[in-house]
Amino acid sequence: MRKIIFTIAIMLSITLQFCNIKSYNSDIIIKNGTIVTVDSTNTVIENGAIVILDNKIIEIGNTDVILQKYTAEQIIDAEGNIVMPGLVNVHTHLAMTIFRGIADDITLHKWLHDYIFPVEGKFIDKDAISLGTKLAIIEMIHSGTTMFNDMYFFEDEVAKAAKLIGMRGLITESLIDFPTPNFKTPAEGMAYIESLLATYKDDELIDVGVAVHSPYTCSSDLLVNAFNLAKKYDVPYHIHVAETKWEFDTIMAQYNLTPVGYLDSLGVLADRTIAAHCVWLTPEDIQIMADRKVGIAHNPECNMKISSGVAPIPELLTANAEVGIGTDGVASNNNLNLIEEMHTMALLHKLSKMSPTVLTALEVVRASTIGGATVLQKDKEIGSLEVGKLADIIIIDTNKPNTTPMYNVYSTIVYSVSGTDVKDVIINGKVVMRNKTLLNINEKEVMRSVNKMAKEIKKTVAK
Ligand SMILES: [Zn+2]
Repeated sequence: MRKIIFTIAIMLSITLQFCNIKSYNSDIIIKNGTIVTVDSTNTVIENGAIVILDNKIIEIGNTDVILQKYTAEQIIDAEGNIVMPGLVNVHTHLAMTIFRGIADDITLHKWLHDYIFPVEGKFIDKDAISLGTKLAIIEMIHSGTTMFNDMYFFEDEVAKAAKLIGMRGLITESLIDFPTPNFKTPAEGMAYIESLLATYKDDELIDVGVAVHSPYTCSSDLLVNAFNLAKKYDVPYHIHVAETKWEFDTIMAQYNLTPVGYLDSLGVLADRTIAAHCVWLTPEDIQIMADRKVGIAHNPECNMKISSGVAPIPELLTANAEVGIGTDGVASNNNLNLIEEMHTMALLHKLSKMSPTVLTALEVVRASTIGGATVLQKDKEIGSLEVGKLADIIIIDTNKPNTTPMYNVYSTIVYSVSGTDVKDVIINGKVVMRNKTLLNINEKEVMRSVNKMAKEIKKTVAK
């Protein structure tokens, strides 16, 4: 009898070894999903699975095959769901969430001078930045964003909030030729940026860049010095460019050059440059942006709300420029929902060109993922679901009336999905939202604190 049991045990062991059954351990397996990889050939895997170990994707394939090969600490069932790369918000001012809806339906000049500048002067400090950024990150994760590019003040607080919640971000302190809530002179601002570069060197979640507000609020010297700082540390250079007709006319009157022509004459347009808006571009400007490989941060809802105009995105894409999608600050949007922004982007350009063939759903999905990653110079690490890339992944619940049936996954994402359909979010291999609940922060407490602050802000505005 003993001999028979021993023989069976040996045979079983040999069989398991031969089949290589569950020989590899991992941290997370996402199974049974429609995997939208956004790789170079736009591979979509039905009933697919993704294996995550530490902070990286180590295998993608058919669920049955993956489950035979791997075990995991955590298995997430994505049956009937879309699994795709996290969205990348390429231009925003996060802490402005505290000013959401403070003044709408008025001219840009009145909005800035009567509302935004006064409340920023009175309320923006370290605590307000920390609180407003936490609310912003909670909102972004709920609607599928896994990396942001922020241009504002006290960026150290932005980084701390992002790390606390588990969000990935590029922080760019805004330099400008007048005092800001954080520093009195641009030189102080540049020293602050250098301290951020030292603090977050090699950080897993935070990248640091250099921001200059715009060609009309910064001197030529500041624009060039800031670019040289970005070059010295090999980091991104973030700037608002050609947002309004007023800016186009002002720069033209001053330098006899377009805003793009002027910046190009200073030598600050390069692949490290992230240019927000780019609404008022001539055909020559479009070619310059493409030739210099400048990253274009398109903010369709903000441009529509402030009535700035329609950025020539189809023309930029035809010229092979890199295009990503941003929300800009909440005060001019009024949300940070990139899924809604994708929807708007697709419709805006079709209407503007009076052509339904302009900007396909696939092009829009690529702009919000790998396009955004390229604009932020992170495309080697994020932006698509591929083996070896960082695990920034979102799961969208499509077991919903508004996403049934699904004939084409890109059409569903751009035209049917709502931001609230995002169910789970993984950033850098860590689950940060599970079943619509953030795991690292008390969402209600943050909202309570923002509402309390808003009561004080409202008193100021009412005066
Ligand atoms: Zn902006």
